[in-house]
Amino acid sequence: MTTVTSLASHSPATGELLARYSVDDTAAVDAAVRRARAAADWWAGLGFAGRRGHLLHWKHVLVRELDGMAELMHQETGKPVDDARLELILSVDHLDWAAKHASKVLGPRRVPSGLLGFNLAASVSHLPLGVVGVIGPWNYPVFTPMGSIAYALAAGNTVVFKPSEFATGVGLRLVETFVEAVGGQAVLGAVTGFGDAGAALCRSDVDKVGFTGSTATGKRVMAACAESLTPVLIEAGGKDAAIVAADADLDLAADAITFGAMGNAGQTCVGIERAYVVDAVFDAFVERVAAIAGRVRVGAEPRAQIGPITMPSQIPVIRRHIEDAIARGGRAVVGGPESVRPPFVHPVVLVDVPEDSESLTEETFGPTLIINRVRTLDEAVDRANSSRYGLGSAVFAGRRTAVALADRLHTGMSSINAVQSFATVPSLPFGGTRESGFGRIHGADGLREFARPKAVARTRFRAPANLLSFARTARDMRIPLQLTRFLHKKG
Ligand code: NDP
Repeated sequence: MTTVTSLASHSPATGELLARYSVDDTAAVDAAVRRARAAADWWAGLGFAGRRGHLLHWKHVLVRELDGMAELMHQETGKPVDDARLELILSVDHLDWAAKHASKVLGPRRVPSGLLGFNLAASVSHLPLGVVGVIGPWNYPVFTPMGSIAYALAAGNTVVFKPSEFATGVGLRLVETFVEAVGGQAVLGAVTGFGDAGAALCRSDVDKVGFTGSTATGKRVMAACAESLTPVLIEAGGKDAAIVAADADLDLAADAITFGAMGNAGQTCVGIERAYVVDAVFDAFVERVAAIAGRVRVGAEPRAQIGPITMPSQIPVIRRHIEDAIARGGRAVVGGPESVRPPFVHPVVLVDVPEDSESLTEETFGPTLIINRVRTLDEAVDRANSSRYGLGSAVFAGRRTAVALADRLHTGMSSINAVQSFATVPSLPFGGTRESGFGRIHGADGLREFARPKAVARTRFRAPANLLSFARTARDMRIPLQLTRFLHKKG
């Protein structure tokens, strides 16, 4: 067997060779983790204020480098430059939030000590875990890993980042901007390579792994982490549904859902892949979506609105889903199997597709949208919830109906009268349920995800009776027993 020692990065649009990167073996990954471990005390010792200063400085560097990074993201993943810019804008916002809120969320706080602990001062603080391994995907090569990286760093950890093989250049550039801002300590380092490098990171001496990627790989990551009981955060795939009620603003719904399905060529974990629309507005909605989807500009030129499919192996999957939907009785109202023209896939809108079609049960990850008719909103909720995934969802309806519907959806996140808007709010936790994973990035929960709660109970004065002692007498037990019977009796 030959060992691959370099990773070639190609433009998905043209096939042009962009760069070559090293493939780190287990020894190189372990060495990167050791460097991060050596920097951990320094970084943790800076405290919230010190880290905030460094992270905000990093933010300034990222803003300065925004256009250059967007261009690199465009070259390496194929996404339009403005989409890359938007991704960076959101990433900067998250970095800013994490830096500024870590102290408030994670700093030490006093908590009530309770009646039995009346002589104690109780406090909890959230301390760094140590070294966090972050494994990222290629579809949002900055925004997605930043959800783990910024929050883990702000919580006081050092980080070793393994970018996707399809976004290695972007991942390395991100780390370079950090090093420029913060200096030589290995607070944020990178390892590069294929899946094996990610697997080595899972088996290295990290204190937690923050993984974002497909559900299948997530299961492998979890199995590898189980060997050493390393905790893991899994942000995996999705099959997000949108629900459109009769009182929805149809123009807004059609515009948002088409973008949610086709934006980034559908290569979005929280992309809309299914829409359930009530009978009364079904035809009008489909007509509007078809008009918008039919106008989407596909290509590699600057005016294009969606670019190529980044990962070549996804193209047959997209084709298979379209063909399966049609073979099972679905009808294409925009495009069809002929829309798959590698490396591009043009928008495809399908209607009346049976729910057991692969195109409705598996993540498609292409610019396709399935719109199915439902008689009632209850039916829409049931169908939306029938997925093995539970990442995001969207509801288009009048205000009161919409909130009630969103609450009934078994997903980690819902947007109302918009798509994906939850991802833009740094204070909202981001993550899924079921096979979309567990744990949260973003917001206060995202900061706590990368910290360990430390509970301290300090004795302020000696209690008249020490119940946690072999010197305890039957008489010492009398008062707590009486109190318990009085305070916790029924009624
Ligand atoms: P993959 O699961 O293929 O890869 C994700 C990362 O895991 C890559 O860095 C990959 O490296 C690495 N990896 C591969 N094999 C292993 C292994 N055995 N052990 C450890 N790491 C490994 O996902 P994609 O990169 O294709 O990303 C697309 C997927 O990510 C979609 O399913 C999408 O829904 C999901 N995603 C989820 C998000 C969320 O927040 N829930 C956000 C964004 C995307 P390499 O690329 O070098 O093989």
